[in-house]
Amino acid sequence: LMQIRGVRKSFQDNTVLRDVNMDLDRGDVVVILGPSGSGKTTFLRCLNFLEQADAGSMELDGVKLDLSKASSKEIAGVRKKTAFVFQNYNLFANKTALENVTLGLTAGRGMGKDEAREIGLRALRKVGLAERADYYPAQLSGGQQQRVGIARAIAVRPDVVLFDEPTSALDPELVGEVLQVMRSLAEEGMTMIVVTHEMKFARDVASHVIFMADGVVVEEGTSEEFFTNPQQERTKKFLKRIL
Ligand code: ATP
Repeated sequence: LMQIRGVRKSFQDNTVLRDVNMDLDRGDVVVILGPSGSGKTTFLRCLNFLEQADAGSMELDGVKLDLSKASSKEIAGVRKKTAFVFQNYNLFANKTALENVTLGLTAGRGMGKDEAREIGLRALRKVGLAERADYYPAQLSGGQQQRVGIARAIAVRPDVVLFDEPTSALDPELVGEVLQVMRSLAEEGMTMIVVTHEMKFARDVASHVIFMADGVVVEEGTSEEFFTNPQQERTKKFLKRIL
């Protein structure tokens, strides 16, 4: 479904991504792990053009493009097929949960109001928030806000959902409800790329794990291989520290 080759990105003289590659099939749940500052978030943002890579290519659903100089038409094409879940939810404070979810359908895709409402409510039901449809973000807990963020992402029926540390801004007691929603999406076959520090989620839910450090993929494998039989010293050290 998605092939990523040779992603490079620097911020001034800070080279964050050196040469990152990744392959994704439909239904895969790829979890990206790595020490703080290793470029995980930057990599994810480059895939959705929230950052512009300095080099690299993407093939998505048979369409190939250059990540460093994609046209606005190409960018729109990628954004149609991918959806992003932000660490800080990025909801509009002056719009209800339902309005936040439907905006991408109406304004984004020209869908009629009634149909968008129907699909929006279905997405909210999926994340367990149908009865909060008319609440504003400030009236929702962080966990509920992030579930709205996930409902917004899945409402547009993307091929791939990109999760950028979706639970790291949450109080510990609210992390579980968000991971549970992500887990059930994975079980339904949603294709996902997840940057997270949640090891149990990675272990239980990931089909593949990518371990990044110093701007490259140091190791990748199935979740089983990665956690039970890591090959690289760097990976072993990382796992020893956190498990
Ligand atoms: P964490 O797990 O702590 O979130 P990460 O692996 O996701 O870390 P990134 O957030 O991608 O790492 O950041 C990698 C490096 O890029 C850091 O050194 C960071 O300071 C730098 N960086 C990220 N975004 C910017 C930016 N917009 N401008 C300048 N530097 C940036």
